[in-house]
Amino acid sequence: MSQIYDRVALIGLGLIASSIFWASKRNNVSGCVTGFARSKKTRDTAKKIGLCDEIFDTAEEAVKDADLVILCVPVGAMEQVVLKIAPFLKSGATISDVGSVKRAVIDAVEPHLPDDVNFVPAHPLAGTEHSGPESGFASLFDNRWCLLTDHKTADKKSQNKVVSFWEGLGANVEFMEADHHDLVLAVTSHAPHLIAYTMVGVAEDLGRVTNSEVIKYSAAGFRDFTRIAASDPTMWRDVFLSNKKATLEILGRFTEELFDLQRAIRTENGDKLLNYFTHTRSIRRGIIEAGQDIEAPNFGRDIEIDQN
Ligand code: NAP
Repeated sequence: MSQIYDRVALIGLGLIASSIFWASKRNNVSGCVTGFARSKKTRDTAKKIGLCDEIFDTAEEAVKDADLVILCVPVGAMEQVVLKIAPFLKSGATISDVGSVKRAVIDAVEPHLPDDVNFVPAHPLAGTEHSGPESGFASLFDNRWCLLTDHKTADKKSQNKVVSFWEGLGANVEFMEADHHDLVLAVTSHAPHLIAYTMVGVAEDLGRVTNSEVIKYSAAGFRDFTRIAASDPTMWRDVFLSNKKATLEILGRFTEELFDLQRAIRTENGDKLLNYFTHTRSIRRGIIEAGQDIEAPNFGRDIEIDQN
C-alpha cells in the first residue's frame, strides 16, 4: 500500500492511538509517526514498546510539520489540547480526532483552528475495555466502521485522504452528519454502556448481601456486562457529559420499553415476551450477517475457560 501521509502526529497514546500506530505500520499507511502523551509514564512506556517513531515531551513539538494530526484524548480534553497545538499546526495540515461524540468535539475544536487547516472529525467504531499505550493492536480496525463527519471547514482532497488513511488501517469508512452520529451512537453504544454500568452496580449491591454469589455464579450474560463496565471511567464520563441530549432521549425510550416488559411479566403475557425476544434475536442475526460479529457461541470464547 502506498503511504497516504509523510508525517502523522498522534496526541494521546492510549488504546486507539496505539492501534492506529500498529495498523499504520502493518499496512505502511504513513511515513514518520510522532506521538505525545500527557504523562511521562505513558511517554516512557511508548518509548519502551516502540510505539511511534518519535515521542515528544510536548504536544507542540509533536505536531510540528505533521501532515495529519489525530487527537486521541478523551472528549472532554479535546479543547485544552487544541488550544495548545493550534499555533503550531503546519499550513495546509489536516486535523482529525477519534472522539466517541462528534458535535461536542466539533464545537470544542473548530473555533480554535487556523483558517489554513482542514478539520475532518472521525470516530472509529472499534475498541475494547482496555486502555493505555500497551492495549493497542494492529487489527483493531479491521472490517470495522470509521464514521467521518462531512465538515464545512475541510476541503474534499483532505477528506479523501482521511478516508484512504482509515481504509489503509483496515476500516470501512462512511460519512455521517454530527448530530445524527451522536443519536445513532447513543443507541448502539452509549446507552448500552450506561445500562451495563448500572447492572454491575446492582449486582454488586446484591453480592454484598449474598456473599459474592453474584461473582461466583456469574454466567456469560452478566460477565459481558462486567466487561463493558470495566471500560475507561474518564472516557465514559466524558461521553455521557458531552452526548447528554441523545443519551437521555434513548434512555427515556429504554425506560418506557422496560416498563412495558415489566408489565408483560407481571400480567404473564407470554405472547408479548415471545414476540419481543423473537424480534430482538433477528437483530443479532443481522449484525452477524453484516460481518460485525461472529456466530460462534459465547462470542467465540473458549467455553471451558468461560464456565469456570
Ligand atoms: P486511553 O487508552 O484512556 O488513552 C487516552 C490518552 O489520552 C492517554 O494517552 C492520556 O494520557 C491522554 N489524556 C487523557 N486526558 C488528557 C488530558 N486532559 N490532556 C491530554 N491528554 C490526555 O483512551 P482511548 O480508549 O484510546 O480513547 C481515546 C479517544 O478515543 C476518546 O476520545 C474516546 O472517546 C475515543 N474512542 C475510544 C474507544 C474505546 O473503545 N476505547 C473507541 C472509539 C473511540 P496519559 O496516559 O498520559 O494519562
